[in-house]
Amino acid sequence: MMSGWIGAYERTPPWDIGHPQGVVIELHESGELTGRVLDVGCGTGENAIYIASKGSEVVGIDFTQRAIEIAQVKSFERNTDVEFLVGDVLELDYHFREAEFDAGLDSGLFHTLPDEERPLYVEQVARVLKPRALFFMLCFSVKQPGLTGPRRLSVREITESFQERFQINYIRDAVFESNVHDPGARGYLTSATRLALGRE
Ligand code: SAH
Repeated sequence: MMSGWIGAYERTPPWDIGHPQGVVIELHESGELTGRVLDVGCGTGENAIYIASKGSEVVGIDFTQRAIEIAQVKSFERNTDVEFLVGDVLELDYHFREAEFDAGLDSGLFHTLPDEERPLYVEQVARVLKPRALFFMLCFSVKQPGLTGPRRLSVREITESFQERFQINYIRDAVFESNVHDPGARGYLTSATRLALGRE
């Protein structure tokens, strides 16, 4: 479902806030986002660049080429060393080895996926994370009123989507900062641990 995204970064989109999401800063400060980190749907890279500036090894992937170009320029200008690449999150196995990452982050991608792509997304993300790696997902929640913007997700649909490959640690209220919601939209932050299956 690439087509809707072409042109999304010709003007600054609502989610591209020019600084990391507050919850990402909190996750770093609480020590939960460490090691080799994958940022899926990284956009123009504010979260990835922030995490890298704190000493993690970060890879950001996004299928919108313009977003990745902007991210690469920012990373260079800010003297951070993030690997940004153009690619589809539904094909992570094409880009990465199994169990390559210690942690994963999704700020605002999952809530854009159509229902039928959710199982493949979860499978692909789980695959490239190490067993027991932490995964964090920030999305709009059902508590956000109005109809504009991305889909709103419920605790139940998040749980149902992830439970096959992850243990849910928490799904908590969080602010999803944007350029059009002041001080932000009502979101959920999900923390999940990649299940270790079989002999892993
Ligand atoms: N994480 C960024 C961008 C959020 S917007 C931020 O917080 O600012 C969602 C991003 O997901 C967009 O940049 C879009 O290009 C990307 N995206 C959506 N579906 C994708 C897919 N299947 N593979 C890779 N990137 C995807």
